[in-house]
Amino acid sequence: MTNILDLNLAELKQWMKSNSESEFRAKQVSDWIYKGIWKFENMNNIPQATREKLQSNFYIGIPELVEEYTSKINDTRKYLFALNDGNLIECVVMKYKHGNSICISTQVGCRMGCKFCASTIGGLIRNLTTGEMLSQIMKAQHLIGERISNVVLMGSGEPFDNFENVIKFLDIVNSENGLNIGQRHITISTCGIVEKIKEFADMDMQTTLAISLHAATDEIRMRSMPIANKYSIAEIIDACKYYINKTNRRITFEYALVADLNDTTRDAEKLSVLLEGMLCHVNLIPVNEIKENELKRASNDAISRFKDVLEANNIQTTIRREMGLDINAACGQLRRSYIKGNKVNEGV
Ligand code: SAH
Repeated sequence: MTNILDLNLAELKQWMKSNSESEFRAKQVSDWIYKGIWKFENMNNIPQATREKLQSNFYIGIPELVEEYTSKINDTRKYLFALNDGNLIECVVMKYKHGNSICISTQVGCRMGCKFCASTIGGLIRNLTTGEMLSQIMKAQHLIGERISNVVLMGSGEPFDNFENVIKFLDIVNSENGLNIGQRHITISTCGIVEKIKEFADMDMQTTLAISLHAATDEIRMRSMPIANKYSIAEIIDACKYYINKTNRRITFEYALVADLNDTTRDAEKLSVLLEGMLCHVNLIPVNEIKENELKRASNDAISRFKDVLEANNIQTTIRREMGLDINAACGQLRRSYIKGNKVNEGV
């Protein structure tokens, strides 16, 4: 059985054709699905025989809601979803004045091993399919009863380690025949897989690219990010410049501030030199502490001093608003594991 959400419209048309059905049925079926009708039997403009054929070949892979947490601080919600094979993933919905935003997962687990990140504990289980990424948005929209207008690929997983599925996902999210969310309302975040940054640049998409840099020198980066042993910061910056040249799009650099690791004004000076003259913006993230490591959040003073140095060097800087800390839904706190039969949310 195939998850019909893994197919784009062209593929569904092709399927119709090779199954002696009219091609236009593909668009009808896809319209139903993206309208929130998730049973073939309810698609009342599709002939019964076709519905049965669909039924015996496909399933509509919407995840099951296992648990929902709502932040008391704001209206942030975290959903724990069960996939078709029983694997669990989490995604987070944030409500802003300008619309609803969702943070989705791209893999079950992650193999990048960043020390500050909870998603990587236990390693990579498997990639999510295109449909499994789409259905997080569809299910969340259904649960909140409102449209979601912004998507960030910052949940569990490294999007560029699941490149093909992610690119197909971006295409369907963006498509009028899919979720119809503008490319500019989508942000893809990577720990910096150089070849993929270049490949992505060549696709010339309008999607925002965010790079998890978290250090201004290789030596410091290696202390928290194993990927730093594979790619130097210089190589990453080169790839980013290539991306900017190709797309004319501004890059976001994410920088999680950890006390006694990367939060001094000297670090900020080095970062300024590195990013000098680039079309970019820095998003400072006070690191969210997780119980598996010793990393401590930088102090508010250190954070504002860091920001001042960057701004004095004409680098646009924002401090990420922390959403959902109380439900372990903030960056790096997404958990793959959920203790079965025990509804305790393992967290800080
Ligand atoms: N793998 C991708 C996307 C997932 S992480 C990436 O590395 O970019 C999304 C962002 O949250 C990344 O910038 C990541 O480094 C950051 N992050 C992870 N753990 C964090 C933590 N404990 N505190 C703050 N930010 C964290």
